[in-house]
Amino acid sequence: MSDPTEGGGQAIGAGTRLVGAGRSPRYTHMAGGRGIVSPPVWRASTILFDSVAELRAAGRDPNDGLYYGRRGTPTQWALAEALTELEPGAAGTMLYPSGVAAVTTALLSVLKPGDELLMVDSAYEPTRAFCRNILAPMGIATRFYDPLAGAGIAELIGERTAAIFLESPGSLTFEVQDIPAIVAVAQARGIVTLLDNTWATPLLLPALALGVDLSILACTKYVVGHSDAMLGSVTAAPARWEALRRTTHALGHCVSPDDAFLASRGLRTLGVRLKAHGEGGLAVARWLETRAEVARVLHPALPSCPGHAAFVRDFAGASGLFSFVLAGGDDAARAALIDGLAHFGIGYSWGGFESLALPIDPAGLRTATRWQAEGPAVRLHIGLEDPADLIADLARGLDRYAAAG
Ligand SMILES: *Cc1c(COP(=O)(O)O)cnc(C)c1O
Repeated sequence: MSDPTEGGGQAIGAGTRLVGAGRSPRYTHMAGGRGIVSPPVWRASTILFDSVAELRAAGRDPNDGLYYGRRGTPTQWALAEALTELEPGAAGTMLYPSGVAAVTTALLSVLKPGDELLMVDSAYEPTRAFCRNILAPMGIATRFYDPLAGAGIAELIGERTAAIFLESPGSLTFEVQDIPAIVAVAQARGIVTLLDNTWATPLLLPALALGVDLSILACTKYVVGHSDAMLGSVTAAPARWEALRRTTHALGHCVSPDDAFLASRGLRTLGVRLKAHGEGGLAVARWLETRAEVARVLHPALPSCPGHAAFVRDFAGASGLFSFVLAGGDDAARAALIDGLAHFGIGYSWGGFESLALPIDPAGLRTATRWQAEGPAVRLHIGLEDPADLIADLARGLDRYAAAG
């Protein structure tokens, strides 16, 4: 068999790419010329050299081959390479011990004191907190913008604007941004764009192909896919790659080879899982829309979602995470809905094989826009259970909510 990461000059489908990604013979053929299907776990801190001369030679390019555990082993390299292969046009990928570490390091690789950052108002809460607690004291100002700004973002750009951070759809509220319009404005002025692409992954939204400079994933979610490891990644366009790598090494980030292995394993089934999460999620969302207890369903694939036209134009499909707003009622009624669910766990994170329900309160997390709602809201992650069972479970939950209200 030849190298499964090569397409033989022919464009290959997403499933085929996921099966071959990162499985270069460099990582799989280390045992007597024969191949292991999945690049195995190589654990290491110290790397031993045969001589002082060899040690010095390796030091001339510590990124080329085994050097020291912090620089990774073939286990982490195979995952990074696989993620790079999923983003046409990418120069490389760095790995992080969490999605938050990926977000913060990507930002630090771009910004310096005196710069201004434009941050989407619907950003993941720890991303907002980083701007407030770490960037501000460093002398880097953040201006939050409406996720629906589109080309209008040009009006917010000042002399010191160095970067625009996007997250689409937005955390909790799922507004879809006009990524090409914002990228066009940024590119015309030499401003760097960063996108938190955790919801869609490169499979549903090829960020770098749309002109984004740094594509960020909380691999903890869909890449790992089984709720059993924390991991993040940033994939960079050529112009941003060296700064990203330098900043990452300077901050001392490295990831466990065991976690990298789990992420590589998750990647093989990412395509089929996303398809099932997406179909199940849309079935549940459409059913919720028909219910009188539900005021609004916040799902990018529904025409009522702010930014839906951009979703249809730019995304290849939906994943399984969305929210809904109840038609009145209080916190206790919402808790009555969630507490008795049989097939939904209550907890943070998402992207695993299992369904989750979470009470959400976006009002306190917005500063450039205002969150107004008819009642309390719930975020759902739709797992790989049968949608009919999830719908029956939610129907019983809405009965409890109605009884409590
Ligand atoms: C969960 C999440 C993160 C952070 O990932 P962790 O691995 O939990 O640190 C970043 N961005 C988004 C959109 C997320 O949902």
